[in-house]
Amino acid sequence: MPVVEAKQLEKTYIAGDIAVKAIQNVSFTIESASFVSFVGPSGSGKSTLLNMIGCLDPPTKGSLQVVGKDITILTRKQAAIFRGEHIGFVFQDFNLIPVLTVFENIEYPLLMVQNWPKKRRTEQVNTLLKAVGMADQGHKFPSQISGGQKQRVAVARALVTNASLVLADEPTANLDRTTANHIIELMKNMRDEFGTSFIFSTHDPKIVNNAETIFTLEDGQLLKNGGGNHV
Ligand code: ADP
Ligand code: ADP
Repeated sequence: MPVVEAKQLEKTYIAGDIAVKAIQNVSFTIESASFVSFVGPSGSGKSTLLNMIGCLDPPTKGSLQVVGKDITILTRKQAAIFRGEHIGFVFQDFNLIPVLTVFENIEYPLLMVQNWPKKRRTEQVNTLLKAVGMADQGHKFPSQISGGQKQRVAVARALVTNASLVLADEPTANLDRTTANHIIELMKNMRDEFGTSFIFSTHDPKIVNNAETIFTLEDGQLLKNGGGNHV
């Protein structure tokens, strides 16, 4: 089953009396356990598209199936629940909660939407801490760890609900090259281990080179040759 199936997607923003077509005629399929990158200049529609896939903002027209569900018919509240259960997010500035420990940051999504018993939560968080190489760091606060470690924690948090899909917007932008490469390797390993699909919006050539599928956006439309291994 594909994790994302978009057909003739369209998103129009209305700002005052001006309508901006941010996405139009966009159709694509993303399979499970994929590494996919959306590239394109600023303003080409990458954020708009990721926001629609992430159930943060509904399409204006077209069909969008995420993890087999038609998400265009969900209410705002249903979308929030669906997002919490199936989709993880990784951000360029990590977005960890500073007053929570590493352990608690990773546990947080399990408390928000899923009613896991404590023992199972602890096991799951410890599994993820180990998977991202942070097994002995759970007690630390975000201020006590490096940027690369913060992004490891963010990847663990994105995966903790057994999400089928992780959306990552410029996840390496605030990391030095070596650390960024380690994070890319980590995400590939997580894809292999958990079968999660990673969808990136990025300019990082290293991520683009590692993606099996590259979708190029220009003025809100997908370029026809956007599915190859080169940009
Ligand atoms: P990218 O992520 O590739 O930089 P965006 O998806 O942010 O592109 O933007 C695509 C287009 O939609 C741009 O023309 C942008 O100005 C417009 N846009 C994005 N968000 C909004 C909004 N909330 N209201 C009005 N226009 C928007
Ligand atoms: P249980 O109640 O299921 O026995 P515990 O709460 O005792 O689980 O935690 C088991 C392990 O998980 C501990 O050894 C600890 O390393 C880790 N852990 C649990 N809660 C936290 C926390 N808030 N911060 C850091 N580590 C934690």
